[in-house]
Parts: sequence; structure tokens; C-alpha cells
Amino acid sequence: MLSKVLTILRKISKIIAENEDQATILDEIVKVLAKNLDSDVCSIYVYDDDKEHLALTATCGLNAELVGKVKLKPGEGITGTAFKSGEIINVANAETHPKFRFIKGSGEEKFKSFLAIPLTVSGRCVGVLNLQKINEEPFTPSITDVVRSVCTQIANLIISSKMLKVLADSDAARVEGPKRRKQVVIRGVSVNSGIAIGAAATYTKHDYFADIKIEKNHMPAKELLLFEHSLKTARKETSELGRKALALISEADASIFDVHILFLDDKTLLDAIRQKINDGYNVESSIKMVNDDYQQRFSRLQDQIFRDKAMDLKDILLRIIKILVSIRSGESRSDELIAEERQIVFTNELLPSDLFRMPIDRIAGIVCEKGGATAHVAILAKALNIPAILGAKDALANVRENDEVILDCHAENVYIRPAENVKNHFKDLIQLSSRESEADYSDEPAVMADGKELFLRGNISLISETSFLKRYGAKGIGLYRTEFLFMIREYMPAEDAQYQVYSKIFKEVKGDEVTIRVLDIGADKPLPYLNFSKEDNPVLGWRGIRVLLANKDLMKTQLRAILRAGVNGSLKILFPMISCVSEIIEARQVLAEVESELHAKDIPHSDNYKVGMMLEVPSVIFALDDFLQYVDYMSIGTNDLLQYTFAVDRGNEHVAGLFNPLHPSFLKMLRFITKSFIGRKDKSLTICGEMAANIYAAPFIVGAGISDLSMAPKSIPAVRKVLRAFTVRECEELLAKVSTLQNPEAAEWLVKESFAQKGLKSV
Ligand code: PEP
Ligand code: MG
Repeated sequence: MLSKVLTILRKISKIIAENEDQATILDEIVKVLAKNLDSDVCSIYVYDDDKEHLALTATCGLNAELVGKVKLKPGEGITGTAFKSGEIINVANAETHPKFRFIKGSGEEKFKSFLAIPLTVSGRCVGVLNLQKINEEPFTPSITDVVRSVCTQIANLIISSKMLKVLADSDAARVEGPKRRKQVVIRGVSVNSGIAIGAAATYTKHDYFADIKIEKNHMPAKELLLFEHSLKTARKETSELGRKALALISEADASIFDVHILFLDDKTLLDAIRQKINDGYNVESSIKMVNDDYQQRFSRLQDQIFRDKAMDLKDILLRIIKILVSIRSGESRSDELIAEERQIVFTNELLPSDLFRMPIDRIAGIVCEKGGATAHVAILAKALNIPAILGAKDALANVRENDEVILDCHAENVYIRPAENVKNHFKDLIQLSSRESEADYSDEPAVMADGKELFLRGNISLISETSFLKRYGAKGIGLYRTEFLFMIREYMPAEDAQYQVYSKIFKEVKGDEVTIRVLDIGADKPLPYLNFSKEDNPVLGWRGIRVLLANKDLMKTQLRAILRAGVNGSLKILFPMISCVSEIIEARQVLAEVESELHAKDIPHSDNYKVGMMLEVPSVIFALDDFLQYVDYMSIGTNDLLQYTFAVDRGNEHVAGLFNPLHPSFLKMLRFITKSFIGRKDKSLTICGEMAANIYAAPFIVGAGISDLSMAPKSIPAVRKVLRAFTVRECEELLAKVSTLQNPEAAEWLVKESFAQKGLKSV
């Protein structure tokens, strides 16, 4: 059956590739389905959101003249009933079904059996696919499964064709009334669930000052007044932003905002601007000239920190200009407005430190041109629970400041200036997704169908995320990425500052296990205050343990803070990016030194912690026993392991399609790893990469013998739900079947088939 699904999917893909017209595509698809599923009829009905009816859009076997003419209301006939209920209807004789409605002139009187399958994507039903046969017998479960498997692709196709229609409509509207700019839909990779609506706020490294033309003004007194007023508002806004950001990210250092305020109070800087205004320039030009002068002076300074300050200065001055522009254009900019406006941030790249240049509490969503699902901006978005779409090509070229934007993380679409009917569509979906999130709070135990207990833990990067642990039922923290604590500051956090943060985390988890990963810096996570030289291949370069061992002071400071904070907790220390045994030996030596120093000074610290290493470099896999002599546990970092195994940059949207943990080679590799742990009661194995949050990967992970999984807390309910439906034996059998497969689609289909048998929903 698997090969049948693959054959059909391949044929459908070919049809889509070879035809542009959506009607032709659906016509060809119904022909393929009827032929390959031994069916006498195959028809597709598509729901029209405006007219609120299902229209016969393609058929093979019924009278083709009725296409576009037969219309059914939701709930009308078998088709309308399947649409309304979202359930499959499979009957041996359609006429015996209470909702049967004969369609005159269709020629369907000779067909008895009837299978109606709703076409659903992300909980949204967009139409119905029907099969009919002359014989009076229900369709077999295997046929139903095959159709179900191809229905998602057809539903997606319908959604995109609907979108195209909306685009065409809004194009037409634009011709009639030129005021409204046309809607643009951009696709990307979603890294968080949810839908966000807000006003676009662009954030780029683009030099806005370059666009300001130097202009004179003959009313300096008025310009000065404007400047002073904007300055006052900027001060107020900046302290408000700082206060709110600190409430959300308590790891941040308040002094970051003090620097911003400092600029806004700097007499030399402000007087220079005032002087230009008095010389007859307008405010924008005056600010630009002073900024240019300062930037030049900053650029001559050697120290990177000072050069970074230039960026802060630019931001602050730009904030004044934005306020000024809105005053000039007569827009109100009351505090209430600022507080309420929800923003969708558009950016080409986002670093943690960038967040402090933004109104973080008002960010409803993030659209980033760079990056895939495991990029660090993705991890950050998850940490802050902000819906985000990454790898959104050309997003910045298509958006303007304050454009209305809808971000649909289910369908991975960004709608810029959405058309009216798109907006209406999302009103319903927002209600649906708020109902879905209610379901997240379930507190079912993480126990499989055969009683096997699982440990589902949380990956966190910020203290604020500890609140999600209980909410989604995480058993402690399986990965605390400490990078963000270092990245959102402009200098190295001192031992005590780190100790405060780690202690808070132990306090929040109340005795549950906390795995703290020692700083994994480098590659896509540089630190502004460590001198990273430019590398051709940073991902293969100076990162993780390599940086730590070259900076023992930094490493020791962090380990001291961790050991002190873990004094009464259940602590697991985790070393990143280990590729050679010598690295873990040296790391342990440093740890031992730190512990004995604390001991000698009588400083309270943990002495019964566990030590582990990330298993994320393939070289480790072939010497597992050697490494296991030096650690209590290993945690598989599938993000890097996949990146290094398949030679595919995890943050590069061009190769995101190759980054798939369901690839049979990868699943076989997983099985190979776990074999080394069999019978080793003294050693344990966990998994903490994104793969652990993938519902289709979950049965394979358990099948390989891993029962300790750590993931973004929000992903726990879905993974738990899936695994509660399986026994370990079933998971093992699934994994065993992978040995005959060659591509990830086949592995995914295999799991989806078992989901269908268990009544689990695929997404
Ligand atoms: C991983 O590589 O899978 C992992 C968990 O670490 P990070 O994503 O922080 O590199
Ligand atoms: Mg990693």
C-alpha cells in the first residue's frame, strides 16, 4: 500500500509541476485517483467561503457538465455532511444513508458504494473528495487509508488556489480603486504554533539615515520645539520599553537601557543637534548630520564594544526621527496607542541583543528572511512564545511600515495587507486556535499504552519559560541553553549574576531535574565581547567546547555559578559539541578543579551532580564506549547531528528541505547509537534536539529505546498524546520497518498510517 500512496503522490506532484491552471490540475487528479483506486467515480467539491457552499469542481465518472453547477450547503447530502462533521463517511449503498441526496442529471444512479473524505488542513476543512463504485460494498480500510494520505496534499493545493484567487480579486480591486496596495502572501518555515495579527514593523540593518536628504528650514524656533517634544517622548518610550523587556527577560541587564537613556540625556550630543537646527536645518537633517559625525568617530575606535555602541546611538536617534515624523504627519502617538499596538516584526536576521531595540512586549509575531526551524532566532521565538515564520524570502521587499499583517503558523503563510475575505477567514481560525490551546493544558500522565513511563522534559533558554513547564506537563528541564544569558548582554555576566539566574531556575522547578548546558557559543551564536575572528565555515570552526577550553576563565566562572546554584537541586551538567575524547577529559578536569576550589573555600555547592555530553557530532558515534567512560549520560542534539551528518546547514533556508530527521539513514543511525546503551544501567541516553518535538518522529525515538525526551514545553502535549496511543513493541516494529525504506516521505507515511489506525490526527 505504501508504494501505491507514493505512486499516487508522485503522479499528483507531476500534474502540479506540468500544469498551471488549478481546474486542469484537479481534473487530472480525479482521473489519477479513480484509475489507481479502482473506483468508478472520483469527484472533488471545494468550499466557497463567500457563498458558503460546496461546489462540484472536478469529476471523473459523473456528468462533467455539472462541474461548477452542483452546489451543496454544509450538512446537505452525504458530501455536505462529511464536510460539516469533518468525519469520513463510507457506505455500501449511498441510498440507505439518511442524508443521501440524489443529484439529477449526474448519472450517479448506477453507483452504489460511496466514500466521502473531508479535505482538511490544520483543522480547516476546504472541501470533500468522493469515491463511488457500482458494486454494493464499502470501500476497504486500505483504500480509505490511501485516500486519506493523499487528501492533505489536495487540501493544500485547494488552499493555494484559493489564495491565488484572492490575489487576483484584490488585483482587480486595485485596478478599480488604486488606493489599496495589493495583498502579498509569503511562505516560510513556521517555528511556533498560532496565528498573529498586527502592524508591520521593519527592523533591518538598513541605514535609514542614508535616505534622509539634507534640507533647510526657515523656522528654527518651531523646529527646536518639535525636537524637544520628540526627545521627551523618546525618553519616556525608552524607559517604558526597558521596564517591559526586563519583566519578560529577567536575565537581561538593566544597564543596557541605561545606555540608551544616557544618549538621550547627553548634553554634547543634544547640543550638537540643537546647533544644527539653529543653523537653519530641519530636525531630520540636523540629526542625520550629527549621527554621521558620531558614526565616523565611533568607526575609528578599535574596541568592538564602542563600535556596537554606534548601533545603539543610531537606534536612539532613529526613534526620535520616527516620533517626529508621526507628529509632523499629524498621527496621534499617545501612550495608549503605543501600549496597545501589536507588531509583527520583519527582519532579515535577529540576534538576542536586537530584541532590546524593539518593543518586546508588543511583538505579536516575527517574520525573518533568514533561518530555518532550528536557527537560534527560532529558539528565541519559542522561548518568548511568539509565533514566527523564518526563511521568508523577500519579506522585507514586500512590506511597508504599519502594513496590516496576518501570520499563519499552521499553513506557514504570511499575509501582507490581507484582503477582506482572508481577514474574515482568520477571524474564525483565531477562535479555533484559542480552543486548541485550551486543549494543551491536559495533565494526562506520560505513560504509553503498555504502561511504559516516559520522561518528557522542557528545553528552555529563559527563566520566564519555567512557567510553561508545569502548564504543559514537563518533568523538569532536559536542556537549559545558557547562551541567551550571555548573548543578551554586552559584556560577560559575572559569576554572581549567573548564580542568581541559575538559582531562580532551580527554585522554579522545585526539585525536578535540571540539565544545564555549559555555554555553546560560536557558529550562529557569536558573543559580541569575545573576539571571534571571521571564519569561512563557522559551523565547523570555533564553537562549543572548543571555545570553552580556550577560555578557561570563562568556563570556570560558569561552572562555579552552576555548581553553587545546584547545591540543593537535582543537577545535570552538559558539555556541548564534543567531538574527541580528549575534549571531554579536559572538560572534566576543569570541572574537578572548580569543585575542589569551591570545597577548599567552603562555598556551598552541589557534589552529587551528573556529567553528560551532547551527542551531536558524528565522530562520537563510532567511539561511544570510549566517551562513555567519562560521562554519566549523553543527550542527542539532533539539530547539529543532522546538520553534520547530512552536510546541511541548519539555518540555511535553501537546503531546509534536506533537513529531515525522518530520513531512514538518520533513524538507522539513532538505532545504532542506542545499541551501545543496552544493558548499561550506569549510563543513560536522552534526546533534546527538535526531533524530540516531532510527533512523527516520536514513535521511532521510543522504538530506538529512548524514553527521556526534551523539547520546547509547548510541544509536550502533542508528543505525549501520540506516545500514549502506542506500545513500545509497536514503536520497535515501526522502526524495524524503516530498514527497507530510502526516503523520509516513506517513513512519514508509515507513521501516519499507524496514526490513522489509532485514530490519531495527522497535521
Ligand atoms: C542540537 O544541536 O540538537 C541542540 C539541542 O543544541 P542547539 O540547537 O542549541 O545547537
Ligand atoms: Mg547543538
